[in-house]
Amino acid sequence: MKALYLVRYGEIGLKGKNRKHFENLLTANIRRALQGVAECRVEQKHTRNFVEVISGDAAAVEARLQQVFGIVSLSPVAVAGLELEEIKNVAAGEFSKVAREGLRFKVNTRRANKQFPLTSPEVSAEVGAHLLRTFPELAVDVHEPEAVLDVEIREQQTYIYTRRIPGLGGLPVGVAGKGLLLLSGGIDSPVAGWMSMKRGVTVEALHFHSFPFTSERAKEKVIDLCRQLARFGGKIRLHIAHFTEIQKELRLKTPERLSITLMRRMMFRIAERLAVRRGALALITGESLGQVASQTMESINVIERVTTIPVFRPLIGMDKQEIMDLSLRIDTYPISIRPYEDCCTIFLPESPATKPRLQDVEAAEAALEIETLIADCLAKIETMEISPANY
Ligand code: ATP
Ligand code: MG
Repeated sequence: MKALYLVRYGEIGLKGKNRKHFENLLTANIRRALQGVAECRVEQKHTRNFVEVISGDAAAVEARLQQVFGIVSLSPVAVAGLELEEIKNVAAGEFSKVAREGLRFKVNTRRANKQFPLTSPEVSAEVGAHLLRTFPELAVDVHEPEAVLDVEIREQQTYIYTRRIPGLGGLPVGVAGKGLLLLSGGIDSPVAGWMSMKRGVTVEALHFHSFPFTSERAKEKVIDLCRQLARFGGKIRLHIAHFTEIQKELRLKTPERLSITLMRRMMFRIAERLAVRRGALALITGESLGQVASQTMESINVIERVTTIPVFRPLIGMDKQEIMDLSLRIDTYPISIRPYEDCCTIFLPESPATKPRLQDVEAAEAALEIETLIADCLAKIETMEISPANY
């Protein structure tokens, strides 16, 4: 064995069957995230997961575990038997990785194994004294320690660790059902997809492409965004809808100042039909209130009226800077800022209506064969499955 990680998850609200489902999904997601990285054994034990790195790069395993939703924290652990002497020696070996002059520390013992002859405080005192003898420059501080050595005495063995590496938190992807993400090539929608995945949603993506107004490279950009998102949630099914005919019709037959609203309404109608077909229970968008003309409350209201399916907007209350920071953290930012045109920016009117009125929009739509346009678009959707990017 090269390394062993103790992986913790949050347990709030987890009961009965739900809990088993949650745990099994998390274990499956961990296994998937580690595929091709290192040879590992993943095991559920004591309401946690243990990941044993058999061969391969432990640092890479650690990095991957930090990208699995549902993991609250992880610790690389050393293992000792149930003899106090061995526990003290292994503890000293572990502690040598963090020990430095003047370090204030404490030992924290948990004893799940009630057969063990010493109580938890006794073990802490014994191990603490041994650490002080081994590293004379240390100081004990039980109230505000700078370092904690954890000793967990279980039935078969003892786990000893000093580090707690934060995970992403959230829920394992797959626990919440499926959502259909309207994915543009911009900064916001990939972040919205990530935030939904964080709450356990399995994400499929739908992109509206306007070839030849938008280039092949715009499509590649969306594929790359999916590859990046797939790192967090596994393979993503991406649907590409060809939007050119609809945009031409809109341009020909409807007033320019309503074009964004009309375009969005068409997108939502198509997305809802696809969602039903794919068993998705909600649409997900990257809208954030007040960011642009189509994201005023009036616009959102008029746009959403064409659907009955719930629409999730995980970014609704976030500032642009916060969204950008998150997109940097999840590595979608460098892809999002590649300078390829999006279908909506191409048809951007000079002065878009920021407060479109439903009756004007409906009157404009009377000039269109909406059902035919939707059916044609749906019939030509291309679907592909995108695997995670290497990292
Ligand atoms: P983004 O950065 O996600 O593009 P944005 O601030 O540029 O967001 P808009 O262009 O107004 O906002 O789009 C609002 C939302 O509509 C997007 O977040 C996305 O969910 C959806 N959307 C926009 N264009 C497309 C497209 N070509 N294909 C699929 N969805 C789209
Ligand atoms: Mg956009």
